[in-house]
Amino acid sequence: MRHPRTAVMSAVAGLGLGLAAALGTTPAVAAAPSPASTAQAGYAAYAGSSENAKANKAFFDAVMKSVAEKRAANPGAAAVTVVYSTTNAPSFRSQIASSTSIWNSSVSNVKLQEGSNPDFTYREGNDSRGSYASTNGHGSGYIFLDYAQNRQYNSTRVTAHETGHVLGLPDHYTGPCSELMSGGGPGTSCTNAYPNSTERSRVNTLWQNGFAAALARATS
Ligand SMILES: [Zn+2]
Repeated sequence: MRHPRTAVMSAVAGLGLGLAAALGTTPAVAAAPSPASTAQAGYAAYAGSSENAKANKAFFDAVMKSVAEKRAANPGAAAVTVVYSTTNAPSFRSQIASSTSIWNSSVSNVKLQEGSNPDFTYREGNDSRGSYASTNGHGSGYIFLDYAQNRQYNSTRVTAHETGHVLGLPDHYTGPCSELMSGGGPGTSCTNAYPNSTERSRVNTLWQNGFAAALARATS
């Protein structure tokens, strides 16, 4: 949370903290240290990975900052739209389209839309850490989709899960298959790609209150 002190950035930085507190996203303490803790696997990682929680938080902050800057420039826009690019994830276009459709039909206070000047991007490749949401170190967020993991697990679920981080949801690997943010926790047989009612209402609350707060600060 050390952004340059411009008005918008400070507003969003403060917002991120408030939202994290409101959502109770303080990382759970892992029951036991993982023997494989050097490999911080995304999506299927053991519960309580503080490194992943930090990356998810940085990613969400980057997305919110991008959205808030656009909103500050155009405060009359009706809906909060988060724009993404699939240019660097051509193999996953259909899964990304499904994920977008799932989220857009599940929540009402934020919409995902493919387009130019994106707030975040999707990327694809091989990474031993699996799939994850992160930042490029310069404030831009991206979702990385790992080939091997997307063959092992239901690929639409992986994509919708990672996109849940865009919308501000933390990992909860100990949850059941019906919970999208349980990720790889329930195992490879879990194919549910839809957020449950709790996850839906969290996202709606987050973007309703979150955006009002961000806008008020950005324009004050
Ligand atoms: Zn995750």
